[in-house]
Amino acid sequence: MVEGVQSPALATYWLIQGRILFLIIPCLGTALFAYIVARRLTPLLRAQPDFRFDHPLIRIGNVLKFWLGQWRHPRYRFAGTMHVLIFAGFILLATRAFTLLIQGASPNFIMPGLSGQAGRVYGIITDYAATVVLFCMIVAIVRRVVFKPARYAVPARHGKGHPVDAIFLLVLIAILMMADSLFLACKAAAGTQQGQPAELLAMLSLPWMLKNLLLSTSLAKLQTLYLSAFLTHELTFFFLLCYRPFGIQFHVETSLFSIYLAKLDREILKPVRWSVSDEQLDQVKSFGVKTFEDFTWKHMLDFYSCADCGRCSDNCPSNAVGRPLSPRFLSIKARDYAFQHYPVFRSRKSNSKPLVGNVYSEDEIWSCTTCGACEQECPLLVEYVDKIVDLRRGLIDDGNVPQSLQKPLKALESRGNPYGKMEKKRGDWAKAADFQPACPVKSLDKTNGASTLYFVDSITSYDDRMQSIARATARILDHLGEKFGILGAAEKDSGHEVRRFGEEMLFMALRDHNADAIKKSGVQRIVTADPHAFNALKHDYKDVAPVEHISQLIAREVQAGKIKFKAAKDDCVYTYHDPCYLGRHNQIYDEPRDVLDAIPGLKRVEMKRSRDRSFCCGGGGLMLFYEPKEDERMGVKRVQMAVEAGANVIVTACPFCMANIEDAIKVAGMEGKMTAIDLAELVDQQIVRESSKFDCSAAISAAT
Ligand code: SF4
Ligand code: SF4
Repeated sequence: MVEGVQSPALATYWLIQGRILFLIIPCLGTALFAYIVARRLTPLLRAQPDFRFDHPLIRIGNVLKFWLGQWRHPRYRFAGTMHVLIFAGFILLATRAFTLLIQGASPNFIMPGLSGQAGRVYGIITDYAATVVLFCMIVAIVRRVVFKPARYAVPARHGKGHPVDAIFLLVLIAILMMADSLFLACKAAAGTQQGQPAELLAMLSLPWMLKNLLLSTSLAKLQTLYLSAFLTHELTFFFLLCYRPFGIQFHVETSLFSIYLAKLDREILKPVRWSVSDEQLDQVKSFGVKTFEDFTWKHMLDFYSCADCGRCSDNCPSNAVGRPLSPRFLSIKARDYAFQHYPVFRSRKSNSKPLVGNVYSEDEIWSCTTCGACEQECPLLVEYVDKIVDLRRGLIDDGNVPQSLQKPLKALESRGNPYGKMEKKRGDWAKAADFQPACPVKSLDKTNGASTLYFVDSITSYDDRMQSIARATARILDHLGEKFGILGAAEKDSGHEVRRFGEEMLFMALRDHNADAIKKSGVQRIVTADPHAFNALKHDYKDVAPVEHISQLIAREVQAGKIKFKAAKDDCVYTYHDPCYLGRHNQIYDEPRDVLDAIPGLKRVEMKRSRDRSFCCGGGGLMLFYEPKEDERMGVKRVQMAVEAGANVIVTACPFCMANIEDAIKVAGMEGKMTAIDLAELVDQQIVRESSKFDCSAAISAAT
């Protein structure tokens, strides 16, 4: 202790000795915090089960990467860098803060390992950390008050924002940094005035600057400032601790747990009810989420962990085109609900009103394409697709099916496809006069076996335009010498969209039928050109042969030299649109690009939003049949992105994307300037065995 400045522990505050006061404040603060957190956790105890305790090593890895390593924050360069700096500052300052708290009662306490040289180095680091955190707080306040980034805005339909709360918390942290630095500066200034060896403060840091400002201040004033800074630090620390669970800053406490408990297999939908098997589902009285307590405890924890940063909504295609859905507000509204109905200092307000209709609107819940962009972006790994599907399950269970989806769902039930077409016509695409003689495709049965099954799925089987993708895929398989066949009339819709729409029982019926047919066919592997079917077969089905998307197979065969391409035409500039269920949900980004890049002379450009930031075209989740309220079509936005990238051909690898993008080209008035082609179609046209090659100009004029 430097002579002349009395330690807070030995000082007297309002007739109370410091060491007593600084024992009371932490005890009260900690007890209050524990009580508040316990109250906040009450709804989690009433929530549905969730299974999140497997694979501890992977989960620890996630914590190191996404929490400690702040992996996703720099995706938004400016705000992300600030967050990384603030987080690093907090981590570094934690030891210093605890040291100060203990010194309140025990003045000579030094954290083990931080005496001598190590302590001096730590002191210098933390001087800079406090300075950087304070600077970031000032920038963050100015940003929120003056620049107001668009993603923080709260549209009226989603209620009120919490800007004052956010700014108040930033101010509190700034006060904490100031108090910490002032405390050190007073001590150093007093020491210098007393001729003590100079306290080592990091040059140009906040404590260093304050010390230099205080050098001519009287010892008496320094003493007062010193004790006041300590008290301010102590009170602000515990006030912050207890205030955070009332607002967005609660994520500081919950995010570590949220990230540890995050879903590890994002591509697999959560079951209707954990620990209830498919066979027992008949006995479940209510499906999905209807009231708040129908969410799982982890989903409730997510609501607390959302930092309201708006990144999810900023990347949500539904939000971008003015649909009533903005994922950020799914969390914020649920958290507000929890705060309102599970208050900390009052008893619980019971409310059995359904969430949809009171907290959320039906349109909001049906507007999601399940593209996964929100989850990909969220730095805290907050989940949305499962929650939305669970809310849909609840709506379906209560018979609330949107008008436009009733017909396709009935058709799926009766005919196994959403168009209501005859089962026996499912394989008719293979009977086209200009296709069948050169590439006969067999329907697999007991007498007609093959090693590979081409699973076509509904849209490619029945839609006249998409049948071209089926024929191209078959020709590629034939070119590669694959022994393949289709299920024909025995194939039903994969059920992928049905499941994401919330119709679990219908999905199970479709899945069981197809799984049975696949097993009976005796194939060893499955190939499909439809990412939705691919995702269903890979993740939603059990015990069927391994499945590949055609782009994976082509990429491998190109690599092995089994496919040779003709040169692409000069006047085409291609861009690849990542289908959500190939890219984000299955991380297949490189293979389709590798195939395109293997075509000699092919010019390829990337759209600004590509790979895991790809912009959904709007086709998933039965959206082809749903008519959402929106200002603009997602597909049109996507076409504009391709134009901005300088492309005139959009290549995709999904029939749903193809349907949307071709439609969007017409709506955007881009016919003749832009065209779309499926990867399988392009490969089929460019393979050396063919005399024709894909003619971009011809394709454009054919489309007009
Ligand atoms: S869910 Fe994640 S990305 Fe969305 S606002 Fe909350 S923290 Fe930000
Ligand atoms: S899954 Fe896609 S459409 Fe649905 S909320 Fe997330 S970003 Fe929006």
